[in-house]
This record gives sequence, C-alpha cells and structure tokens, in this order.
Amino acid sequence: MSVEKQLIVFDFDWSMADQDTDRWIFEVLAPDLRRKMKKLKEEIQWTDLVAQSLREAHSRGIKRSQIEHSLRIMPFHPAMVRGVTNLKAGGKTTFLCLSNSNSVFISTILNDKSLETLFTEIITNPAEWEGELLKLRRRVDPNGPQHDCKVGCSPNMCKGKYCEELTAFLERHGKDFDRVVYVGDGSNDFCPILRLRSQDIVFCRANRGLQKRIEREAEKEGLTCQIQYWAGAWEVEEMFGKL
Ligand SMILES: [Mg+2]
Ligand SMILES: [Zn+2]
Repeated sequence: MSVEKQLIVFDFDWSMADQDTDRWIFEVLAPDLRRKMKKLKEEIQWTDLVAQSLREAHSRGIKRSQIEHSLRIMPFHPAMVRGVTNLKAGGKTTFLCLSNSNSVFISTILNDKSLETLFTEIITNPAEWEGELLKLRRRVDPNGPQHDCKVGCSPNMCKGKYCEELTAFLERHGKDFDRVVYVGDGSNDFCPILRLRSQDIVFCRANRGLQKRIEREAEKEGLTCQIQYWAGAWEVEEMFGKL
C-alpha cells in the first residue's frame, strides 16, 4: 500500500513519555500527596483529584519552577525524540496528541525536548498558571453536557468515537489519511482505536491496560485495525522507520 498522507495519534503518559505526568510530579515534590491520591482515586474523579493536589502543593509553598523542573527531568527516551523528529522530517505525517494529562505538563515537556511544533493539535485537559498555582480543569466541563461513551472512558474526556475527539479532528483536517497509527498504552486508549480501519495500526505498549482490554474486548467490540506491540521507545523508533 502506498501511503502519501498519514496521521500519528499519540497518547502522552507512558506512550510518548516514559512516565505518568500526574503521578510523577507528586512523587518528586510531595510523596505524601502522591500517597493521598492513591487513597482517594476511587472516590474523586482523577482530573479533579490532580487539580486538588496541585492546590494543596501550592498551599504548602511548592513553586512553579519546581513543578517545571520535575517535568523536565521526567523519563523521556531519546529514541522517541529521534523517532518522531525523523518521521516529521519525512513530510507525509501529521501528529495529533490525545491525552488525559494537561496542556501545561505536556507543553513544558515538549518545549524541553524541542518538540513544541510537533503536534498539529494537543487535545487534553486545559490548565494555566495563575502565579505559582497551576489551575487545571476537566476537558469535559462537569457542569455542562457529558459525553455518552459506552466503552468506559472517564467523565473528563472520551478520546474515541462517542464524544468524538478523534472524529472531530478528522473532520477539521480532512479524512483522507491513507493510514492512521495510534500509539497508546492505557485502558482509555481502547475507545479511540475502535475508530480505526483495517489499514490503520495501533502501536500498543505491552503489558499495560490497553493490551489487557484488546485481549478481552477486541472481538466483542469489533476492533478492525492491525496491532503491533512494543515495550521500549527504541522499538517505536524502529517501527516508525518501517512506516
Ligand atoms: Mg497513557
Ligand atoms: Zn470513549
């Protein structure tokens, strides 16, 4: 198949990056808050819990510069930087980020890796600095209409077909991609890959939530795309080289 135009969709935590931003910054700066989040995560919606923990961090004097520094030192494989940079230079690839992290965490890290112009769009939870406090909101406002995803996405965001993040992107940028490649690891990446066609591929990180859902639910939900597994970012670089 000749591919002239392709779209790479990236999840961020544990997919593009080798860690989870929401958890990492607290592990670095306030492990007791990280422990508290682990205890509260069944009771409080995750994005709200991160927002609340950021307020607590602020109230005990943790500074913007400390949070930014912790993001810059978060594990991020050099092979991932090389892989996406080379693919972008090839000229036929558009990049989209679909993430449950937030706009500030992602842009801080991308700037540090000189990848700030990689993505055409970054679809994630909105955040902004207000002095030393990072204010974070759910992408789907809890007071407005909620998405009706039936595949188990969390209330703040559905990456897949039901609240149409990926569908809406394809409407905005033309649907004529010869191939879509989705790089993901988590259980909430299952919904968007149900949108993919038989010529599309999921690059699934092995032994995490997405693989488990594929194994259990692919047949029932009618997953039609191809699946390739990887463990380290150096393998993603290799897989990109064959696209
Ligand atoms: Mg992830
Ligand atoms: Zn969904």
